[in-house]
Amino acid sequence: MALKSLAEYELLAAQSHGHLCAGQILGLRMALYGIALLGIEDLAGADRKRLVTFVEIDRCMTDAITVVTGCRLGKRALKFRDFGKAAATFCDLREHRAVRVAALESSKQRARERYPEIADKNQQQMRAYREMSDAELFEHQWVTVAIGPQDLPGFKAPRVVCAQCGEGVSFGREILREGRPLCRACAGERYYTPV
Ligand SMILES: [Zn+2]
Ligand SMILES: [Zn+2]
Repeated sequence: MALKSLAEYELLAAQSHGHLCAGQILGLRMALYGIALLGIEDLAGADRKRLVTFVEIDRCMTDAITVVTGCRLGKRALKFRDFGKAAATFCDLREHRAVRVAALESSKQRARERYPEIADKNQQQMRAYREMSDAELFEHQWVTVAIGPQDLPGFKAPRVVCAQCGEGVSFGREILREGRPLCRACAGERYYTPV
């Protein structure tokens, strides 16, 4: 199955995200641009396992990117790097190449200039982001991304039990301390505080 039209993706994005917004359209356009640069066309079929996507923000556009790419956290094909930036890197596992696409800071201003008569910012940007060229919306850069086998979908590794809390740890995420395997929380990276 080939790629769908932007309008079809908009419907799917609205369903999965709960509403349609400018961020969704930007995310759809960003993902379509990224996979076009990689030459990937059949994400539902032959190219299904070709792509891993790194997203740099957890906002509306992130959901839209998963709609186009099919890359999901639960499939290990979506990686989150919390940089707070409207950017994503699309990694082609087959051709061993990757492209990072970032939304241009000027895109909001361009939307204003294009449709000054539309007072509602979201409506103004939605309309403009549908119509603006890829070059007006984005910059892209070819990059390499070090993805270890333990980070790829389908990686199999024995589950290790943390010597301190007894919880299981997958994908080699344990840390060895004085010969004992510890989970990251017990090793000092705990993000929560027991009460
Ligand atoms: Zn939204
Ligand atoms: Zn532990």
